[in-house]
Order: sequence, then C-alpha cells, then structure tokens
Amino acid sequence: METIRQRMIALLTEGEYTDRELSQLLGIREKEVLHHLEHIRQSAMARKMKLKVIPARCLHCGYSFESRRRLSKPGRCPRCKGEHVEDPRYHIA
Ligand SMILES: [Zn+2]
Repeated sequence: METIRQRMIALLTEGEYTDRELSQLLGIREKEVLHHLEHIRQSAMARKMKLKVIPARCLHCGYSFESRRRLSKPGRCPRCKGEHVEDPRYHIA
C-alpha cells in the first residue's frame, strides 16, 4: 500500500492527473485512488506539500466547481443540470 501511495505522490508531483488516469497508471480502482488521495491530502502538510485540486468544470456551460471540498467527482452541473462534467485533476505542489 505504501508503495502505491509513494508512486502516486511521485506522479502528482510531476503532473496533473484525474482519478481515472491515476487508477489506470497504478492499476488500482478509482475508489482506492480517492482513498489514497484523502490520506495524501492529510499527510501532505507535515511534508510541506499541498494536494491541489484543479476543479471539475461543466463541459456544457463552463461552470467551475471551485468551492467543492470533496475529492470525488461531481455527478451533474448545479447551474445547467448538464451531466457532461470534466473530471477534477490533482497535483502536488
Ligand atoms: Zn453546466
């Protein structure tokens, strides 16, 4: 488990990824990706790192989910009710 998390940290330090991309790169399920991301977010401060979330965006009206605090992806847009919502991306700074 620790190895996967370290690989995830290495990936996120180098670039921006969605949970789907991380699940494919690491060979784990998206649910597990989110579980690891929560731990990384909590432990990041102690290591002087910060998990940044590039907000999900509605592909229909451009609404940005800036204020969303949960890590999982939103289902539909609160403004236009569209369901084509781009996945949020994660990055460690
Ligand atoms: Zn929308």
